[in-house]
This record gives sequence, structure tokens and C-alpha cells, in this order.
Amino acid sequence: MQKTVKDYIRTIADFPHEGIMFRDVTTLFGDPRGFRIAIDQLLHPYAGVRFDKVVGLEARGFILGGAIAHQLSVGFVPIRKKGKLPGAVISQSYQLEYGEAVVELHDDAIQPGEKVLIVDDLLATGGTAEAGIKLVERLGGEIIGCAFVVDLPDLGGRKRLEGLGMDVHALCA
Ligand code: IMP
Repeated sequence: MQKTVKDYIRTIADFPHEGIMFRDVTTLFGDPRGFRIAIDQLLHPYAGVRFDKVVGLEARGFILGGAIAHQLSVGFVPIRKKGKLPGAVISQSYQLEYGEAVVELHDDAIQPGEKVLIVDDLLATGGTAEAGIKLVERLGGEIIGCAFVVDLPDLGGRKRLEGLGMDVHALCA
């Protein structure tokens, strides 16, 4: 039987902290077939849909988002952690388990009404993606979909994003 996307992802115990089972997608990205089927499957529900921008969340969302933007022949836009983008930015904070994080988007990266696909490797609590959604919407972008390789449903991210009216697409749990 041919391997599925999930078969290419390894789980590493106790990273970055004890008790965390970390889904490592570098083994998916590092395999020529794995990477190709992941990109193809991430795009599958959007056949015939027009996008203006692909927005990737730091850092693995850049790898996926770059390949997807190239495939769609549209621009790629990064959402980065605070202090990394060189131009004028808008910022959005969100809660972590302990403390707070901030992500940023160049304030001219998306024009009002542009149709956006948001991409990241993994959806857990949905906090990171929600912050990204808020940034895109603050610039007037219209989010058509949010696509992830992995969805960890027990952590509630899908429900959280669907509660914001988002269409969520994930390849495996
Ligand atoms: P959330 O904000 O709780 O949904 O966490 C999702 C963010 O954390 C994404 O940007 C992921 O890249 C990252 N993340 C959390 N857990 C993992 C994991 O097990 N593997 C890879 N990335 C993870």
C-alpha cells in the first residue's frame, strides 16, 4: 500500500518539553513524494477557487505556503514572530499556555478584498491561526480557507476557527 501523508510524519516524545508528543513534519518535507502529495492534498478542496495571496505562519507554514503560492501563481505573505519583519507592521498578541506571544504582518502585504488562503503545518489550540486570521482581516483580506497538514482535534483548534466562520482543511489527525 502507498504511504499516506500521515505515514511520513514522525512523532518525537518529550520535545520541546517533557510530556509533549511533537509531530515532526521535516520527514514529510524531506521526502519527494511526501512533500508533493502534501501540497497536492492541501490544494485539493480549492480546485477552481481563485486566491490572491497565500499567507504562511512562521515557520513551517512558510515552506508549505511558498510551494502552494508557486503552484497557484499567486503571491506569498509571511506572518512572523514579533520583531522579524523589516517594514511597517500590524501586530496581534495571543495567549500561550504560559504567557503571551505576538505575531506581525507587513501593513501593506494584503489589499482590502484580496482572497487569502492561510497555511500552517499543524493546528493545535488554534491560537496561532486565530492571531493570523485577525491580522489578515484587519487589513481587509477575505479568508477563503485555512489549510493544515495536521489537526490535533482534542486541542480544539478546528472548533475555534470554525466558530470564527473559517473553513478548515486538514490532511490528518
Ligand atoms: P496552536 O497555536 O496551539 O494551534 O499551535 C500551533 C502552532 O504551534 C503552529 O504554528 C505549529 O507549527 C506549532 N506546533 C504546535 N505543536 C506542534 C507539533 O507537535 N509539531 C509541529 N508544530 C507544532
